[in-house]
Amino acid sequence: MSEDPAGAEPTPCIVTVAITGSVPTKADNPAVPITLAEQIESTHAAFEAGAVLAHCHVRNDDGTPTSDPERFARLLEGLRRHCPGMILQVSTGGRSGSGAERGGMLPLAPDMASLATGSCNFPTRVYDNPPELIDWLAAEMRRYGVKPEIEVFDLSMLFKAVEMAQDGRIDGPLHVQFVMGVKNAMPVDRAVFDFSVDTLARLAPDATWTGAGIGRDQLTLNRWSLERGGHCRTGLEDNVRLDRETLAPSNAALVRRVVDLLPAYDRRPATVAEARALLQLPEA
Ligand code: ZN
Repeated sequence: MSEDPAGAEPTPCIVTVAITGSVPTKADNPAVPITLAEQIESTHAAFEAGAVLAHCHVRNDDGTPTSDPERFARLLEGLRRHCPGMILQVSTGGRSGSGAERGGMLPLAPDMASLATGSCNFPTRVYDNPPELIDWLAAEMRRYGVKPEIEVFDLSMLFKAVEMAQDGRIDGPLHVQFVMGVKNAMPVDRAVFDFSVDTLARLAPDATWTGAGIGRDQLTLNRWSLERGGHCRTGLEDNVRLDRETLAPSNAALVRRVVDLLPAYDRRPATVAEARALLQLPEA
């Protein structure tokens, strides 16, 4: 925006890439990485394009989701080797397992793990996060030094996370992701987005946050997040297209789309070291 040479120095934006998730298939987009080799190659290309945080699921070779800790171990090992310093975040989401299975990889001590702090509806099922499971996952994360990324699908989840940070079940400061556009969960609504960002700032002023939009609203949430000073998530997990007609050729292409947006908002991609400092993670 600013052409003023005395304008603000660009500030770093943590670009997260969610490379595969558990839903999109090769039929949706042949670029969706399924095997470990494909996942490592796709993440590496996204890293080279400017992503510094990888949100990871694992799949069986036939594409079905799994939460097999051995497979996570091989993925993390490959990513640590090929993407030095990149922040590695595993999903404890409910599409690839149930109950304690969902945290079976936490002893691998990845940098971060996702943590949904409440239940809601998903397109065809309940996203079931009972209080005792949330507490157990949070306790495992503390035990292994894994920083949670709080997945906020509705406002009650934000309040729950703040409560857990205040009573010590989560080590602060919070890192929150606002997810909009999952069918049957929170729609893509600007007033609700702004209210959520303002509420986080009021209740947890030291928190960092990211916005994630699904489908073509991926770009909408990227823009809104940049306008409000947040960080960005992209990747084939959430969206397989560049526009209505064009399939995204790769995760890296989606990362480049975000990186290209940044200067207009006086932002630039965070380095690995900057992202780790912003999230108060140990140096690589
Ligand atoms: Zn995910």
